[in-house]
Amino acid sequence: MRDIGIVAHIDAGKTTTSERVLFYTGISHKIGEVHEGAAVMDWMEQERERGITITAAATTCFWTPTYIDRSSPDVKKHEYRINLIDTPGHIDFTVEVKRSLRVLDGAVVVFDGVAGVEPQSETNWHYADEYHTPRICLINKLDRMGANFENSLKSIHERLTPNAIALQWPIGEEGGFSGVIDLMIMKAYKFEGEHGEKVVQYDIPEELRKIAEEKRHVMVEKIAETDDALLSDYLEGKEIPVERLKKALRAATIANTIVPVFAGTALRNKGIQLVLDAVVEYLPSPADMPPVKGLNAKHEEEERHANDDEPLAALAFKIASDPFVGSLTFFRVYSGVLKKGSYILNATKDSQERIGRILRMHANHREEVDEIYAGDLGAIVGLKNTGTGDSLTDPDRSLILEKIVFPEPVIGIRIEPKTKADQEKMGIALHRLADEDPTFRVSGDAETGETIIEGMGELHLDIIVDRMKREFSVEANVGRPQVAYKETILKLAEGEGKYIKQSGGRGQYGHAKIKIEPLERGKGFEFVNAIKGGSIPQEYIPAVEKGIEEATRKGVVAGYPMVDVKVTLYDGSFHEVDSSEIAFQIAGAMAFQEGAKLAKPVILEPIMKVQVITPGDFIGDVTGDLSSKRAKINEMGERGIARLINAEVPLSEMFGYVTKLRSMTQGRGSFNMEFSHYAEAPGNIAQQIVEGKKK
Ligand code: GDP
Repeated sequence: MRDIGIVAHIDAGKTTTSERVLFYTGISHKIGEVHEGAAVMDWMEQERERGITITAAATTCFWTPTYIDRSSPDVKKHEYRINLIDTPGHIDFTVEVKRSLRVLDGAVVVFDGVAGVEPQSETNWHYADEYHTPRICLINKLDRMGANFENSLKSIHERLTPNAIALQWPIGEEGGFSGVIDLMIMKAYKFEGEHGEKVVQYDIPEELRKIAEEKRHVMVEKIAETDDALLSDYLEGKEIPVERLKKALRAATIANTIVPVFAGTALRNKGIQLVLDAVVEYLPSPADMPPVKGLNAKHEEEERHANDDEPLAALAFKIASDPFVGSLTFFRVYSGVLKKGSYILNATKDSQERIGRILRMHANHREEVDEIYAGDLGAIVGLKNTGTGDSLTDPDRSLILEKIVFPEPVIGIRIEPKTKADQEKMGIALHRLADEDPTFRVSGDAETGETIIEGMGELHLDIIVDRMKREFSVEANVGRPQVAYKETILKLAEGEGKYIKQSGGRGQYGHAKIKIEPLERGKGFEFVNAIKGGSIPQEYIPAVEKGIEEATRKGVVAGYPMVDVKVTLYDGSFHEVDSSEIAFQIAGAMAFQEGAKLAKPVILEPIMKVQVITPGDFIGDVTGDLSSKRAKINEMGERGIARLINAEVPLSEMFGYVTKLRSMTQGRGSFNMEFSHYAEAPGNIAQQIVEGKKK
């Protein structure tokens, strides 16, 4: 079994590659069953009519590697189950990329053979590094004008990892690209038949022998470097058998010390089956993965192995609304067995759920199953209280698996239902969509009564509004996008809050003294209880914390949420009769506000990583314009015949840039943008933000 995903920059060919994968695996599966060519054609016809579904969060398919003799009686033994986990292409959905990386064991990273590494591939690559995901690369679109395998590989070396090694070499270029040389076994391949379904092996053409030998040498050396015994044999000049090389390469790929690189064109049906072979040969099975860790009911760390006999531990990684069955909760089982009809514990929410139907999604049908075993994936129909990222476990062996940390939204818009009838439906729709997507938030503006939606970019919110219309029939008017500013503090300060009321009836008494100090960027909010000797009784401490936490949501500069602050509660006092939770909550908030004002509060603005590609003629205008947008230009380079600029630009300066860039470059420039970090807004800008907020 393999749990893998295809990761790519938008337009690199992820959809086309996925389609081909499902198509070829469909054929392969059929061959395994019927052992005859005619059935394959039938299946392909049907398939073309019905179309392949590739949008499920996880699709199961089966692959018999091409090097297995398909006519042998035990061909079934060599059939691998591949769960293809969907990863989205656009950067606004980075969160989904992260979420899918959490559940997959290995990834195929697809690159455009013309563009090579693009900015978003870098981001996704770094996420994959964060999760130590083993990877193989496919340099796709080698049939295109301007495609170049070697340059693309070079851009991988320069921008992503020096450990990428070519396992193949292309035969021909651009329109003449006809297949690949397998450097491991030193054979050439071409792909025949209407859909390239016939994989034909032949001898390396004479004119390519020399380059193939050279490239093989590089490959062998790199592999040998990962294994001491192999290295010494290699240095002694011994011929290393292919099986030994493959074994070492598999270990190195799983350990993430080598990234094998393949060549192909999904659209023209060349090379995809060999990438599937590589998935089987080099990417890990669930059993190769280290055990998952989580926190048990006593908050101690426990491990689970990919073993059916261990207690159930599963992770819900995606909630999808399905036109046929309602809500579908996609999950991965890390250990144990998830059974239909059983009761399980949602350990994250500490509530019980009953497992109704379990489905497994295939390319062209869905299968109802009774059980899902360790390492495998499926979808539960109609779970009520389970959200994305929740852990589903054995009721007696609670385990909260590592949480997925999502980035904070950077942009917000006001949204208003068109009619009264839309009003109610809008609330329901937005909450449903927020349940599905942890980077999408809905909030109300207490002062104006308006609804605000926040997300990772303009496109992200456009899609939400569009889905609201299509899936929930809610029409809404949306405002102009607003930057999600934040606030923080720059120095340590102290604050004191006293809330005392003693006029008639029962009084109120709460009193708290705090220290407030800056935290590293991205750390959020931290509360430390340093009360000694009971100056505030234990029972009121959570109330103080709650008051402070609520106060951070409205900062002292312009009312934006305050982040990256640590608050230490160190003293206070109480009253035997008058003290109450609410009084301490208010005292906490007061102390925070006083302290924050003294702690040099500032406004933070989101800074975006921007890459612009433009024909050389316009480079002066484009950089000039970027400079006027407070951009920090980090790199200027070449992309084929075009020029490339990498810069960091505040998000507030980037609204409407699509149109601006188009007019500056006669429609020939393009750009790409993603969130990078929050940074302090300079004084004059902060001033404008405060004034804008007042208006
Ligand atoms: P995605 O955005 O990564 O899912 O990319 P798609 O699979 O939708 O492909 C983007 C565009 O590139 C589409 O027009 C495809 O037809 C085209 N495309 C995909 N693979 C290839 C390829 O190997 N060669 C060429 N020439 N075009 C391709």
